[in-house]
Amino acid sequence: MTDSVTAKILILDDDCFMLRLLDEQLSGLGYINISCYSNGDEAITSMQEAEGMPDIILLDINMPCMDGIEFVRHLTARNYQGSLILISGEDEIMRRATEKLAIAHKQRVQGHLQKPILVADLADLMTKCLASHPQDALRKKPKFYSVDELQCAIVQDQLLNYYQPKVSVLTGECIGVETLVRWNHPTDGLIFPDQFIPIAETHQLIDSLTHSVMRMALQQTKQWHDDGLNLRVAINISMDNLTDLSFADYVIAETNAIGLPHHAVVLEVTESRLMQDVNIPLDVLTRLRLKRFILSIDDFGTGHSSLAQLRDYPFEELKIDRNFTHNAHNDLRLKAIFEASLELANLLQMQVVAEGVEDLDDWQFLRKTNCPIAQGYFIARPMPAEQIPRWLLEWQQRVQHEQICIKK
Ligand code: C2E
Ligand code: CA
Ligand code: CA
Repeated sequence: MTDSVTAKILILDDDCFMLRLLDEQLSGLGYINISCYSNGDEAITSMQEAEGMPDIILLDINMPCMDGIEFVRHLTARNYQGSLILISGEDEIMRRATEKLAIAHKQRVQGHLQKPILVADLADLMTKCLASHPQDALRKKPKFYSVDELQCAIVQDQLLNYYQPKVSVLTGECIGVETLVRWNHPTDGLIFPDQFIPIAETHQLIDSLTHSVMRMALQQTKQWHDDGLNLRVAINISMDNLTDLSFADYVIAETNAIGLPHHAVVLEVTESRLMQDVNIPLDVLTRLRLKRFILSIDDFGTGHSSLAQLRDYPFEELKIDRNFTHNAHNDLRLKAIFEASLELANLLQMQVVAEGVEDLDDWQFLRKTNCPIAQGYFIARPMPAEQIPRWLLEWQQRVQHEQICIKK
């Protein structure tokens, strides 16, 4: 019996027979720390009392008093950080909608189980929960960093860039890399951008953060070019960077100083909130496009990254958000959204990159739909710059041996 079976599990289902059955199934799989509740209020109370927060919750969606959706709201309010498995007798569309809602509430949904539940499916999902949260990670509360800490990190060069390849689906050729910043925290280890970009955006640190990321990315790309690797580099730009007219001059000067051609630099723009004044971003982006930088609309189809932005700004590349790519091959709605985005980009003569290509099924779907460029875990996870040359060799071998592309 491994340590992982001591994970604290909470089951909430109004059907007592179901509760007993799940309890028995989990016990049979070796889990020993299980609490069962038939009522949402009691489950919430238990979390506030001695029992504390569970590591994994199995949650029935449809319950007569507090339903599953309401319960998820309580979890979010209590900053629940563990895994969630949804259980339901509802149809596929309802289960997916509930899953999306729970994800939107920042819950770690590991999947859903349809009643009657098969032990094998339950075992798979439980393993997934444990794999995605090693025990110590499950217990580690997400830390909130202060503006001062982030400012020091920028000044003291604690930010570092990871790079994730973008490849041609037709030939497998690596077209470029996307720069993804990480914070190498002296005591907490590697911190992901979702934990500090919003702080930078709301406390006027985004310009110095972007400058630091951009300088490192341009220098690294120049080095690759000098070594014969002609990669394009994509850099994420926050809309808050575009509220100052001088941003275009900054990018032009920095790229010229390092000696890279402008068309080797892609600027990926996401609009996470509505802009008050659209004229300044428009001015900055139009000037950058005139200077032959490549402008990319990121996370297309989510938030404010949508049709109005396509209408207003001179984008040349469209990145289909990963939420529409992964699993699109077996979900009618995702497939429709993916194909419509692709068609729209084609009509507008824009380049298209599909993000979130996680497995062979996603990759084959891109081939079938003629989506030209792919990015995602199936191809490579983001990695430090020094790992790129070795990855390139391994990828070329994969392309040949696994015959995943049409042409060499
Ligand atoms: P993004 O621009 O959409 O970047 C892609 C994110 O998806 C990255 O997360 C990447 O690791 C992850 N990803 C890549 N392939 C897959 C896949 O196949 N499946 C899944 N599920 N995820 C995949 P990361 O590195 O945590 O970055 C999160 C976000 O933080 C980025 O989303 C971007 O919006 C922002 N960000 C990162 N670096 C910077 C930066 O230098 N400046 C600004 N303003 N934002 C940044
Ligand atoms: Ca991006
Ligand atoms: Ca994106």
